[in-house]
Amino acid sequence: MKTYSLCSIFILVIFSQSVFSQTSEDPEIKKMITEVKAENLEATVRKLVSFGTRHTLSDAKSKTKGIGAAQKWVQSEFEKYALESNGRLTTKIDYFTVKADGKRITADSRVGNVMAILEGNDPTDDRVLIVSGHLDSRVSDVMNTKSDAPGANDDGSGVAAVMELAKIMSKRSFPVTIVFVAVTGEEQGLYGARHLAEFAKENKWNIIAMLNNDMIGNSLSSGTNLRDNTQIRIFSETIPYLETEEEAKMRKATNRDNDSPSRLLARYIKTVTEQYVDQLKVKLVYRNDRFLRGGDHTPFSQNGFTAVRFCEMNENFDHQHQDVRTENGVKYGDLPEFMDFDYLRKNTCSNLATLSNLAWSPKAPVNVGIEVKNLSNSSTLIWSAPEDKPSFGYQILMRETSSSHWEKIFFVKDTKAEIPYSKDNYFFAVQTIDSLGHASLPVFPVPIR
Ligand SMILES: [Zn+2]
Repeated sequence: MKTYSLCSIFILVIFSQSVFSQTSEDPEIKKMITEVKAENLEATVRKLVSFGTRHTLSDAKSKTKGIGAAQKWVQSEFEKYALESNGRLTTKIDYFTVKADGKRITADSRVGNVMAILEGNDPTDDRVLIVSGHLDSRVSDVMNTKSDAPGANDDGSGVAAVMELAKIMSKRSFPVTIVFVAVTGEEQGLYGARHLAEFAKENKWNIIAMLNNDMIGNSLSSGTNLRDNTQIRIFSETIPYLETEEEAKMRKATNRDNDSPSRLLARYIKTVTEQYVDQLKVKLVYRNDRFLRGGDHTPFSQNGFTAVRFCEMNENFDHQHQDVRTENGVKYGDLPEFMDFDYLRKNTCSNLATLSNLAWSPKAPVNVGIEVKNLSNSSTLIWSAPEDKPSFGYQILMRETSSSHWEKIFFVKDTKAEIPYSKDNYFFAVQTIDSLGHASLPVFPVPIR
């Protein structure tokens, strides 16, 4: 992407290597990226597999097998990271009861999400980021609580990523609070994520982004035998689940059909991933999830939060939700031997680039508008600084109406800018940026008459 800088409202200055844009790199983020190790992720996945099954309704009491032992182990690892966090990382298993649902929960059951919360260091900043994987696993029969359900990739990969992120990020401090969570009950009906999303809504958490990692460590597809370890899919909802009549009206008036907050987050992930992570591209998928499948970002979307799903490019159905067995020479089961740990490393780095940029970012601009009162062949955008505090600067993002990703960036110091491109032909969004290139999530403008 090219970077432009608008020094005044009417003068466009081109910077070939501007320090004022997301094209500048934060050396601390680069350093953190190097700390993500494929061998650590593999060791975590193998440890998770060693619990036999992590079915939500499996043994909760054993010290070595079942979901209870797995939860306690994850928490004990979080506790180790807490020792190096200056007291800012706290951990817990958030237990709650899931009522019998006549489907995948046969009796009222006590389940729990394992959480590590890295408190933000700015008491005036209430923003929260959530990154999740699901700890529970399953075999062919979703009600089988006894057979080994290794769940190496689904979703040992997501949990291993969350733990690696907690370990590396808790050694740093951020103004924004980050919640690292290994949820339970995903395979039985997204119960752990729903519990957390509802709790967050009730308690008015200001969640700016929720990243769900579910199956991010397999690169070989079943059936087609294609291998791809250079792309990660980001699923994001098109029309927000929670949309008021007023918002729907505005969406139609502005043709905002491809710019939901979750889609804007997905594009943000693409920008920072391709900036910080070598040999990894983000594939934006314009749907909330795959056919016949669900994920833990969905309860967050349903509660009005901005949430996306990370998922490997290629899925291998021989190694998902399968009894471990060999049939006609084909090996079935979700075992570590089928995973690609360097691919998992890169996908963990994509999360890291996203979380750290957002956690260090200034707050997003407010009251972002685009003037439509006159016919003109340029575009004037106006906004207010977050909390009326002076900001280092802003980036106006621009793309053709038919393009999937931002194509031009304009850097401005002011809170108003005229762009010499017609508002009729492009989409715009505005984000706040600091001197190290950390940018807020972009805000899509409303028309000003
Ligand atoms: Zn899963």
